[in-house]
Amino acid sequence: MPALPPPPDAPCTISTLLQYAVKAGLPALEARMLLTFCSGLSRTALITQDQTTPSEAVRTAFLQRVARRQQGEPMAYLLGEREFFGRMFAVSPAVLIPRPDTETLVEWSLDVLRDEETPAVLELGTGSGIIAVTIALERPDAHVLATDVSAAALAVARQNAADLSADNTTFATSDWYAAIEPKARYQLIVSNPPYIAADDSHLREGDLRFEPAGALTDHACGLSALRTIVSGAPARLAPGGWLLVEHGYDQGEAVRGLFQAAGFAEVTTRRDLAGQERCTGGYWPGN
Ligand code: GLN
Repeated sequence: MPALPPPPDAPCTISTLLQYAVKAGLPALEARMLLTFCSGLSRTALITQDQTTPSEAVRTAFLQRVARRQQGEPMAYLLGEREFFGRMFAVSPAVLIPRPDTETLVEWSLDVLRDEETPAVLELGTGSGIIAVTIALERPDAHVLATDVSAAALAVARQNAADLSADNTTFATSDWYAAIEPKARYQLIVSNPPYIAADDSHLREGDLRFEPAGALTDHACGLSALRTIVSGAPARLAPGGWLLVEHGYDQGEAVRGLFQAAGFAEVTTRRDLAGQERCTGGYWPGN
């Protein structure tokens, strides 16, 4: 990582601050996004007012974020938000950053719920809540229970549900099915669990270095959380209900095997926008 150049002396103009960020190695777009965030000025105002001098507080906040970005910290954490399925969601380092790949899982969820009235939906490992809240907003008649083992993650998910008025979402702390009411039955169980193997070198690269390890890896072979979710689903699904999970691009065959062993029917895999096997699902025919 190249050393950070010495910051410009105060006071300095918007133009000087943006030039500094680019010299520090940031793409110009990221520099503008960070300055918009720190100053409250629009992207247009940054251009039309580029010879004005922001306050010392703005200058300091911006330079701090440029330094953090230069060290590799993800933009989503520096801005505190990321778009998913057309809506903005709050994120913090307590949760995984929303990825476009996961839209495949949400679209499939909405497909299987199409003919269900007032469906009961369970999401395991909700993180920032993007899946549960999106389903709840797209299907206002649904009742969505979103769970996570991390209290810090649930706080972010609750905030997103409140900010987006997803009033049909409830939250519970649970280690997968541990705290789920045994008699409850769902039309859909959905999960994007940690599925990266502990020895996968990707965990030490890019954004993943800054994300919560517990949201990324099962600290084992990558399949252990998926195995717990798939094997426990038949006892919680209504007959004809669906289980849909996200997984790694190279785990499709193994995950289909888990579904088949648990007695699921119509076990299929969908690909993400990049053409990679990304989600597997099946329906529970009943005992
Ligand atoms: N799709 C993410 C990645 O590979 C991992 C998400 C997860 O483990 N659930 O970067």
